[in-house]
Amino acid sequence: MTRDALPDPWVRPAHPKPDVTAPGTGGLVDRHGRVATDLRVSLTDRCNLRCTYCMPPEGLDWLPKVEVLTDEEIVRLVRIGVEKLGINEVRFTGGEPLLRPGLVGIVAAATALRPRPEVSLTTNAIGLSRVAPALAAAGLDRINCSLDTVDPARFKQLTHRDRLDDVIAGLAAAQAAGLTPVKVNAVLLRGINEEDALPLLDFCLERGYELRFIEQMPLDAHHAWTRGEMVTAEDILERLTASHTLTPDVEARGSAPAERWLVDGGPATVGVIASVTRNFCGACDRTRLTADGQIRNCLFAREESDLRTAMREGATDDELADRWRIATLAKLPGHGIDDPSFLQPSRPMSAIGG
Ligand code: SAM
Ligand code: SF4
Repeated sequence: MTRDALPDPWVRPAHPKPDVTAPGTGGLVDRHGRVATDLRVSLTDRCNLRCTYCMPPEGLDWLPKVEVLTDEEIVRLVRIGVEKLGINEVRFTGGEPLLRPGLVGIVAAATALRPRPEVSLTTNAIGLSRVAPALAAAGLDRINCSLDTVDPARFKQLTHRDRLDDVIAGLAAAQAAGLTPVKVNAVLLRGINEEDALPLLDFCLERGYELRFIEQMPLDAHHAWTRGEMVTAEDILERLTASHTLTPDVEARGSAPAERWLVDGGPATVGVIASVTRNFCGACDRTRLTADGQIRNCLFAREESDLRTAMREGATDDELADRWRIATLAKLPGHGIDDPSFLQPSRPMSAIGG
């Protein structure tokens, strides 16, 4: 089937609207009836790469160490999320979460919670070849690795580091450790790595990895993103369908942001996350905790709720849960990227936690 003949899978079923619960009880419900059950936890704002869409090549200040949550503080907040607020999915991210010395212990503590949340990790895979078996033993369920090109020179151009071999070794180690299916996230930039869409797909198909393209969002540290310059989901699908047959994967999508397509009849699939051009804000079920203990109800939120200070001043679990509920109530209906009044958040993606 050609791209033109593809049915449009972007139409989302309406999200069921639960009763909006008052603070003090229940889960993380916002004024638009969405319920946040998927927690993204940034473990650090530091990184060993400098992907151009995420961080500047140099000159970004790290969070002061004293402001970064300790392992115990992170585990406490995750526990409150799971036990009191209905979080059933926890994804550790960053910055680069593999740079956090306590990562394996944090994962083990999260997988020991009851009800047991699904626990996953988003990583650039550098160093994963060493730690993948320990992460698997700690109960990690899934892994997402970022890789935007399989061309060493372009990798260096995009990330400002010559580490492609480490990433490839990390992916293989994740697969060998049983952290499967290994998912690969790719961002395409106009005039830089658009040509890499097909080589990336072939690389993933050959190894049994699941590739997902993510539209570039305005979350770069130098605020250089423009709507006109971004590579859209349509552009990506056009490139892929030049060499492969894509058919919509009919498996229920729920609130998952990726539209999935069977490649050449399946079973291999490719996903496209059209965060900008076909936003899925109406079905959003996410809440975010930054490495310095701030709750963000949206990637693009311009306000945060400070749990770290409250926690360090002695707040009880119930008080922290209430603060989290109140922070969720104020979640805006959508990211508003196409609105003329849109303002990019001041934190870059590396400091929010993607
Ligand atoms: N360092 C880890 C990694 O790269 O996977 C985890 C953190 S990174 C911020 C998480 C994800 O956000 C990556 O898949 C990355 O490609 C994506 N990302 C970063 N900046 C982005 C942007 N401006 N637009 C879209 N995705 C972005
Ligand atoms: Fe680091 Fe991930 Fe940002 Fe790349 S996308 S600079 S690997 S945090």
